[in-house]
Amino acid sequence: MRFAGSFFDGASKVFRHRPTFFKLVVILAGASTGGLVAYADSKSGLNVQSSQGTSKRKVVVLGTGWAATSFLRNLDSSLYDVKVISPRNYFAFTPLLPSVTCGTVEARSVVEPIRRIIRKLDIVSFDIVKVAADLIFSFCSSRQKVGKIKFWEAECFKIDPTSKIIHCRSTAVTNPVGTDEFVVDYDYLVIAVGAQANTFNTPGVEDNCHFLKEVEDAQRIRSSVIDCFEKACLPDLDEEDRKKYLHFVIIGGGPTGVEFAAELHDFVTEDLSKLYPSVSGLVKISVIGAGEHLLTMFDERISKFAEEKFQRDGIELKTGFKVVKVSVNDFTMKAKSTDDISVPYGMAVWSAGIGTRPVILDFMKQIGQGGRRALATDEWLRVCGCDGVYALGDCATISQRKVMEDITEIFRVADKDNSGTLTMKEIQDVLEDICIRYPQVELYLKSKHVNSILELLKDSKGDVTKEAIQVDIEEFKKALAVVDSQVKTLPATAQVAAQQGDYLARCFNKIKDCEEHPEGPLRIREAGRHQFRPFLYVYCSSHAMFCMGGHKISLA
Ligand SMILES: Cc1cc2nc3c(=O)[nH]c(=O)nc-3n(C[C@H](O)[C@H](O)[C@H](O)COP(=O)(O)OP(=O)(O)OC[C@H]3O[C@@H](n4cnc5c(N)ncnc54)[C@H](O)[C@@H]3O)c2cc1C
Repeated sequence: MRFAGSFFDGASKVFRHRPTFFKLVVILAGASTGGLVAYADSKSGLNVQSSQGTSKRKVVVLGTGWAATSFLRNLDSSLYDVKVISPRNYFAFTPLLPSVTCGTVEARSVVEPIRRIIRKLDIVSFDIVKVAADLIFSFCSSRQKVGKIKFWEAECFKIDPTSKIIHCRSTAVTNPVGTDEFVVDYDYLVIAVGAQANTFNTPGVEDNCHFLKEVEDAQRIRSSVIDCFEKACLPDLDEEDRKKYLHFVIIGGGPTGVEFAAELHDFVTEDLSKLYPSVSGLVKISVIGAGEHLLTMFDERISKFAEEKFQRDGIELKTGFKVVKVSVNDFTMKAKSTDDISVPYGMAVWSAGIGTRPVILDFMKQIGQGGRRALATDEWLRVCGCDGVYALGDCATISQRKVMEDITEIFRVADKDNSGTLTMKEIQDVLEDICIRYPQVELYLKSKHVNSILELLKDSKGDVTKEAIQVDIEEFKKALAVVDSQVKTLPATAQVAAQQGDYLARCFNKIKDCEEHPEGPLRIREAGRHQFRPFLYVYCSSHAMFCMGGHKISLA
């Protein structure tokens, strides 16, 4: 793929023309040391790509998406020997992909070559770009120290955490010289490979549906939409055939499906109806969702807005329906109370969910995480069950430690005088650490509109003055019994991925400092403090924000 124009040029133009949900990426790069050599690993007999002449720790980053790019742009790469491996040699600004499907935005405007990103010496900060980027990235205003980051266009197909190596394969169509497989060793592995479309093994989906994950997908969809209109205009067709070609089906009531449906509607009514006036009246757009409503992951006001807008626009909404089969000419759907319904269609886009990449499935099996949907990490984004491996973005999920799992130890740590009861002061002394280590505590307090654990204890303690409060372990457990209900899985969004990349880079930048001066909360089961504060997701916009055609939707 060639990139004729700069991402920033394109992006700022888009922003001027279209008040849409828009955020962006700004990166870094530089020069440094460390020659790359291939050596034969005596044990494995493999050619291992390693670095010579440097004592720097080796950081290997898998991916060039939101999480990886955010990590790279915030990393002080002069501290490490950094290699980036991804089958995609560019970063893609996914929130604008639905607009690419309809040509509102050019594909080249939503990508930035990774080599350009890692070569840049300065962080570029256009005002307009900064405003947009603030929505999603915690914008980095200071100039980064940079080292030489290497990029290889390849996919990692196996991670070997025991030998600390990864196996990669070039994704170039043909490699006329040499082998297309190689092995890379690491001290730290940062896995940010995202997710892939999930068909839930529904028959016919792979063969007959489009997905909307990559820039190429968006381009294919665009040309398929036009093809449908061209086919519908052919002579000697009856009206039913024309209607079939012009029935666009979107399977999935999440943000991607909803955004695409709205874009498609605008494309049809504003552009295609002028080019294909004879058939434009036959167009039908249907959105099929298994849930009772669209956008169930968002505030219900957003969901209501989307449904009402679709109704006004004449987009057919089928909620509570599951698509069970897709054939070349029709698809089959089913609701709880109905038999199978077969519906003819011209083009179908499957956006019903995300699944795990094969390399991650294999890795999870190796480390005892088989059967999970995503890689489990702790709150510091370290993959549970192996050393030096981090995972972030859509391929990972944080296993938040529960308060009730540690309640006895928390009580013991707080009970400094070993009296068997906690005073108000003893609780106050550990409260901040507890709230940092277990963010669900603060969320729970907020949900109850109280400021401290002590207020939760009031009920059981009646009128006793705060100073006189003494809490035993049973009362302590009772007060905190339901705080874990506030533990939530983070959504698979660009915001989360970018914040995790930023967080991890900052930890890497201060590894040495924090070894000597740990900044994290008290350890509950061991002595001392954690080296870093755990990752904490901060909502960039108040609740949710996304784009439906020309409408930016956000709730305060
Ligand atoms: C159409 C669309 C619209 C969206 N709109 C929004 C939105 O408005 N707001 C929002 O917050 N989120 C949105 N999202 C979600 C957001 O894009 C994802 O949550 C985000 O991309 C996740 O970032 P990531 O870094 O984990 O993965 P990705 O950004 O998907 O990056 C994964 C990277 O890993 C690489 N990779 C894959 N396999 C391998 C391998 N085997 N070895 C090495 N590298 C590999 C890929 O090439 C890619 O570079 C949207 C997504 C889509 C598809």
